[in-house]
Amino acid sequence: MNEIAFTSLQEVSSGSYEWAVKVRVLRKWRGVSNTGKEFKGFNLLLLDTQNCRLPGFVPALIAQNYERKIVVGNIYALSNFTIKDYKPDDKFRCVCCEKQIYFTNFTEVEAIAEDGVMIAHDMFDFSDLGDLTDIADDNTYLTDVIGVIQKDFPLRKFVNKNGVSQVQMKFEITDGRCYGTVTFWDSLAEEFELALKTVSVHPAIVIVASAKITSWQKKVDIANVTATTFYLNYAHHSVSDLRQMLGSPLFSKCDFSSQIPETFEEHGIESVKTLGVEYLNMEVVCELKIILIVNMDWYRAECSSCYREISVVDGEYKCIVCNRDVPFADKKFQVLVEALDEKEHIELSLNDRTIRKLIGKTVDELLEKGETQEKVPSLLRALEGKWYSAKLKISPLNIEVPSSFFYVSDMFELGGSFRSSTSTPSAASEEACEHEFNTFGWA
Ligand SMILES: [Zn+2]
Repeated sequence: MNEIAFTSLQEVSSGSYEWAVKVRVLRKWRGVSNTGKEFKGFNLLLLDTQNCRLPGFVPALIAQNYERKIVVGNIYALSNFTIKDYKPDDKFRCVCCEKQIYFTNFTEVEAIAEDGVMIAHDMFDFSDLGDLTDIADDNTYLTDVIGVIQKDFPLRKFVNKNGVSQVQMKFEITDGRCYGTVTFWDSLAEEFELALKTVSVHPAIVIVASAKITSWQKKVDIANVTATTFYLNYAHHSVSDLRQMLGSPLFSKCDFSSQIPETFEEHGIESVKTLGVEYLNMEVVCELKIILIVNMDWYRAECSSCYREISVVDGEYKCIVCNRDVPFADKKFQVLVEALDEKEHIELSLNDRTIRKLIGKTVDELLEKGETQEKVPSLLRALEGKWYSAKLKISPLNIEVPSSFFYVSDMFELGGSFRSSTSTPSAASEEACEHEFNTFGWA
């Protein structure tokens, strides 16, 4: 491969197919027809050592020869391809250029090892959020933007006027000076919602690459087309630069509070029991060890209409209030446990969601395995003797009667070695504990 003279992407042109280029594949996405039904081929975004980006296209007819072979992030030698010049009215070009690489039957693709090849892992060409009004609705070229997420709205699912189901997610970004509204549609909306939930650094910084800019009533909207993708808290200098600027006066007027996860006060059991009325309905976090599952009735059945607890009358679940049989009663965990820390003990009520999260099974699944209401299943017994971080919600009764049981709204197990204060407290275990807490933290 070394003897081949590679041409830069800048220099390749139509009129010849005897090109060889050395490129990193930055992105790959499937192209579909305007109706969204027909697969037309797949698109590539390529970058070379000169920091030149060029789109590539592999037509549907030969797509299967290449689609698997070409992996995003890898470097390839491409040869024997043609160059197609864009027509003036070709829209949505993912980078600002007038040509693209067009694969033919004869195009050769050879993977090149990473070592010694100086091609960046990414490249963006950002437009300033303040300049988007000027380029809106043209869309010959798609646009890269970057911003700090300041606000996000819940995923919206609806049926559009053509009777098609759609999903939409909106969020607002800022660079400290200007703001932009991003609207993601359909699968990208769902992907983004999920990704935003799992970011660990807040507020998150997003890069929206190859976005379509539209305007409506003088308001600019940043939206996705098939070429669009996003990067959250991406390892790129543009992101770290913006992160550093967050502390500067430029951002002093921005309100990121909705993007910072709630934190909870930590208390020992003794202290939990002395919390005053100012803690009413608040949640606090407590490290404790479950020592005993107290109740034998480990689940309750609910009426599927009125959600009241119901019981079996003459071999059949009946709701007295609704006056009917409930053949498919919802069964939910309802577990009372005794727990303690170094100083005190406490009674806790664990709800269905918490138990399901801890043991990974539903009541119905346990009953199907042959468990009965009369005996606490071994999977539940297995919760005993372990340390947990529990989120307790302070009820009016808790404030009046400190010995009353506390409702747990969420709970996760602390790995045995992470428990710091009773065993050997070392810097390492403190750190591990902290890490554990953040990883499974209270989202
Ligand atoms: Zn009922």
